[in-house]
Amino acid sequence: MTITDKAEFEKLASLLGAGPRRIVLVGHTNPDGDAIGAMLAWGRVLETEGHRVTYIVPNRFPSFLDWMDGASKILVFKDSPDPCVNATTEADVIFSMDFNQPQRLEALGEVIASNTMATKVLIDHHLAPPPTFDILFSRSDLSSTCIIVYAIIWELYGLEAITKPVAEALYVGIMTDTGNFSFGKLSPELFHAVAHLVEKGINIHEINNNVYNSYSEGRMRLLGYVLSSKMRIIESCRTAYFALSEGELRRYNFQIGDTEGFVNFPLIIKGLHMSAMFVQTRRFIRVSLRSRGDVDVNLFARRYFEGGGHKNAAGGKSFDTVEQTVERFRKAVYEFFGVDNPELQDDRKDS
Ligand code: 5GP
Ligand code: MN
Repeated sequence: MTITDKAEFEKLASLLGAGPRRIVLVGHTNPDGDAIGAMLAWGRVLETEGHRVTYIVPNRFPSFLDWMDGASKILVFKDSPDPCVNATTEADVIFSMDFNQPQRLEALGEVIASNTMATKVLIDHHLAPPPTFDILFSRSDLSSTCIIVYAIIWELYGLEAITKPVAEALYVGIMTDTGNFSFGKLSPELFHAVAHLVEKGINIHEINNNVYNSYSEGRMRLLGYVLSSKMRIIESCRTAYFALSEGELRRYNFQIGDTEGFVNFPLIIKGLHMSAMFVQTRRFIRVSLRSRGDVDVNLFARRYFEGGGHKNAAGGKSFDTVEQTVERFRKAVYEFFGVDNPELQDDRKDS
């Protein structure tokens, strides 16, 4: 796997080769396996190179990533803002990892933006990066940020720099962002890269168990409840959705990360091509969208829910109530697929 943009590599090499730097690595809100994996892998290599690295995320990451080597070093802005602000203020270099919109950092975005002196580097695979970065590794044709980090490490420091913990972190990101190698861009190059990681001695069974087979009882029962009682299907649009209120989450002893991946389940139903999940949080409703094939949920998220993402996996927010959000979603689905909305016809009959 190679990334061909020589100019960006040269800029990065001279930035990092000029002596030890104070570096901040920042990942997005609701950090996932790719964000955490990319930060831990890249950070470890930078530390080995003699740089001082601070790892920052806006809010807590799911407990199924706790086991990762270095995870305890990650600072959570919401829990302890002061060290995050201090490290950001002092930083010479700030890497934005696995996101390209400052809004994806929520309140941490302002802290990062306030350091106007640091060199800002983007390592990411989302569409449409803004032109605000000094150095840009942006590849929306690749499945994960971790695969880009892999290519950068290889180019700058060689494959030897990918030690076992680095390989493990990269594997977590690649595995989670491809749905355990079931969707996304599954190229031969990706599997060549994975082969290199396996050569470093990573234990795929163990990683699988740690990430996927680590449900609490509450999380498993919440999934059962979602699928049996909450999922609705709009047949004419081949779309499924479900919404969870804070009360429902509490009933199942919800922990952060528990609903991660739930949105994929309805797509197991034959013939469905879009799935949506609405999860109520204190300030807004988190929207998650998944699709198969040509259905572009990135477009859907941008158009209707102030969000974005990738063609087959996107997300956004709603500041309405759960009921209003679901109603707005149903209308949007009919409009998006150009299918007559029977609910609107009913309205007309009533009037
Ligand atoms: P998830 O459903 O796992 O939270 O998010 C899936 C993908 O959608 C993420 O990888 C990210 O690319 C995108 N995404 C999720 N939430 C937002 C959001 O609020 N804004 C934008 N621009 N993208 C989002
Ligand atoms: Mn990613």
